[in-house]
Amino acid sequence: MKECSWCRAPASRVGVLIAGPSQVYICDACVAVASERAAGRREPPPPLGAPEDLLQRYQPCSFCLTSRPLPELVAGPGSLCICDVCLVSCRQTLQQARPGGLR
Ligand SMILES: [Zn+2]
Ligand SMILES: [Zn+2]
Repeated sequence: MKECSWCRAPASRVGVLIAGPSQVYICDACVAVASERAAGRREPPPPLGAPEDLLQRYQPCSFCLTSRPLPELVAGPGSLCICDVCLVSCRQTLQQARPGGLR
């Protein structure tokens, strides 16, 4: 059965469950929480001249599996994380699923 990979809520208990390409799912509530965290954790970009450090700060997004610099990722429970790009597309999906926007 499908469930949100973030909060483990089953599909029947959440408003909208969005599927990622890698059998990862995230529900509308977790998208909202992650979006708030993303808005609240704007770090300055890493300084230039530290390429190795920069490389180590890359991590794959659990949702789209694309490696992204850590400042563009929002950590979820366990080792899960989601990137800004996925959050934007998830919010667009939610808006289409619920005309009128989130309550
Ligand atoms: Zn969830
Ligand atoms: Zn992603």
